[in-house]
Amino acid sequence: MQDCIFCKIINKEIPAEIVYEDDNVLAFKDIQPAAPVHLLFIPKKHIPTFFDLEPEDSKVMGELQRAAATVARDMGLSEKGFRFVSNCMEDAGQLVFHIHYHFLAGRQLQWPPG
Ligand code: 5GP
Repeated sequence: MQDCIFCKIINKEIPAEIVYEDDNVLAFKDIQPAAPVHLLFIPKKHIPTFFDLEPEDSKVMGELQRAAATVARDMGLSEKGFRFVSNCMEDAGQLVFHIHYHFLAGRQLQWPPG
């Protein structure tokens, strides 16, 4: 999608520190990290919010979770773990309307989030 910043990252039109890529999924470092490790996992397909998910998108949403586990293992986080969360629309604080999961790790995280 033309005006989507994450689509521009997928298309390599703007730079990002990519940590994982396959045919359907991209993961890169968040530009404003909220934890020692702060990554964003996105489907390459432009899907604005959870409310826009189609039945055929279930596969890629599962792939995002498996990609997160792969990256976590590769980063040595198997023991300590990580948080994988997504903000959907205004009340949750969604700023970029291309579905993404925040992958947070590297410190003890608080719950519930604000
Ligand atoms: P949201 O509030 O939509 O859940 O989170 C959007 C996230 O995208 C924020 O954590 C923000 O720092 C990150 N972000 C926004 N623009 C860019 C960018 O151009 N590059 C990268 N790497 N992250 C971005």
